[in-house]
Amino acid sequence: MAYDFDLFVIGAGSGGVRAARFAAGFGAKVAVAESRYLGGTCVNVGCVPKKLLVYGAHVADELEQAAGFGWTLEEGHFDWGTLIANKNREIERLNGIYRNLLVNSGVTLLQGHARITGANEVEVEGQRYSAANILIATGGWPQVPDIPGKELAITSNEAFYLKQLPRRVLVVGGGYIAVEFAGIFQGLGADTTLLYRGDLFLRGFDGSVRTHLKEELEKRGLNLQFNADIQRIDKLDDGSLKATLKDGRELVADCVFYATGRRPMLDNLGLENTGVELDERGYIRVDEQYQTTAPSILAIGDVIGRVQLTPVALAEGMAVARRLFKPEQYRTVDYQNIPTAVFSQPPIGTVGLTEEQALAAGHKVQVFESRFRAMKLTLTDIQEKTLMKLVVDAETDKVLGCHMVGPDAGEIIQGLGIALKAGATKQQFDETIGVHPTAAEEFVTMRTVTR
Ligand code: FAD
Ligand code: NDP
Repeated sequence: MAYDFDLFVIGAGSGGVRAARFAAGFGAKVAVAESRYLGGTCVNVGCVPKKLLVYGAHVADELEQAAGFGWTLEEGHFDWGTLIANKNREIERLNGIYRNLLVNSGVTLLQGHARITGANEVEVEGQRYSAANILIATGGWPQVPDIPGKELAITSNEAFYLKQLPRRVLVVGGGYIAVEFAGIFQGLGADTTLLYRGDLFLRGFDGSVRTHLKEELEKRGLNLQFNADIQRIDKLDDGSLKATLKDGRELVADCVFYATGRRPMLDNLGLENTGVELDERGYIRVDEQYQTTAPSILAIGDVIGRVQLTPVALAEGMAVARRLFKPEQYRTVDYQNIPTAVFSQPPIGTVGLTEEQALAAGHKVQVFESRFRAMKLTLTDIQEKTLMKLVVDAETDKVLGCHMVGPDAGEIIQGLGIALKAGATKQQFDETIGVHPTAAEEFVTMRTVTR
């Protein structure tokens, strides 16, 4: 049977755009439907605008440090409206680039919500299209717990478009987004409190990293409240918000920001018309080749709930394009040793196993840990410490994990990701000549076993 398209992609986010462009490049007839914004979460309400706001917040650090280097500055003034307007302009530019990328690669771009109406059929704006393969790349959406007053809270989606910087912010959650936005709000001058329901935030990250970041954030004056969770939110007469915690405490703020995880975006997708099954967590179930339980339907990215990072969605999109249209180039995505950064202030960079994971996996572990004050701070009064840590298998000498908290951690960890992927040993780290004077050289000069 002849179909309108070889591949119909639902969602022009990180994964969908990558799959569509490469599939078209391999000669396939491809359509992409996008209901909201080209480039998806990452470009519009994720990685990119977030990083721009992080840069904005970081300027405060530079200003604080300036006096130590002899600079006298007039008292600074920050204008949220300017930052948001400039950020919006940049996002619009990127939207245009994504449009050109798709159109120039011969992809048919359809604007509107897509609904699957059959194993090989998708409806967009009342028009039905047939396709040999359908790729679901619809991403995720912020999830706020069902508490009284939840409609008074905002999520990352709205934070990027706030008219003003709130004076007092309560950030709820202890994952990537909570920690990053706490740094943004506080860095830009808001009185910020982070509330996390557990003992220590960033569950799943290395224990030393979690403790170190906690100490550094406290030094910066961020109000960290662990074992704290909001029971209800009420609006007060003056327009501010009162959060009543489960332990009875009451906190008043101008903004309550929830970052309590994301759910797969399956709204009105028409899965009931397909044989696509969900896993126990509610994400689309796929096999190792991103095949759903319906033969003609595939899924990638946040909607499959594996590793919710843009470079992972890109790799999955590439794998699908190759598998369908260039099988001789097909390679599976390697989920081991994915480097990642949390753009907190200071940031985290991490790749490989945490000390806890290495021990749990039965490795005999050697830990090398170093804490130091970065050279740049020696001419200032700032007492922030950088943490670097290597987790090594004592029997094979293989480096299992590299972890860092400190300036440029994300930039530094990328290269170490290559070393871990190549299976580098501690001896090879030791034999690598350092770049002097940098903080990064500490990763090749740690000689004393800490544990
Ligand atoms: P998305 O990029 O979410 O794209 C899905 C697209 O599908 C959307 O454009 C949506 O509008 C569209 N869509 C949904 N349903 C339909 C439908 N029925 N019809 C038509 N279109 C539809 N990752 C990093 O690696 N680094 C970071 O620094 C980082 N920062 C982040 C910060 C925030 C605040 C958030 C929320 C996420 C961040 N992420 C980051 C995660 C990253 O954004 C996601 O992992 C990535 O965007 C997932 O790509 P995707 O293709 O699966 O989905
Ligand atoms: P995460 O899953 O990372 O964190 C969610 C946090 O919310 C956890 O601390 C969790 O606690 C807490 N939580 C969950 N449910 C509740 C609840 N009902 N009440 C109170 N607290 C709750 O999600 P995020 O929203 O921070 O980010 C989503 C994903 O996006 C990330 O996991 C990451 O993959 C990606 N991302 C990547 C970034 C990057 O690369 N720099 C930046 C931002 C996002 P607990 O630990 O106890 O379960």
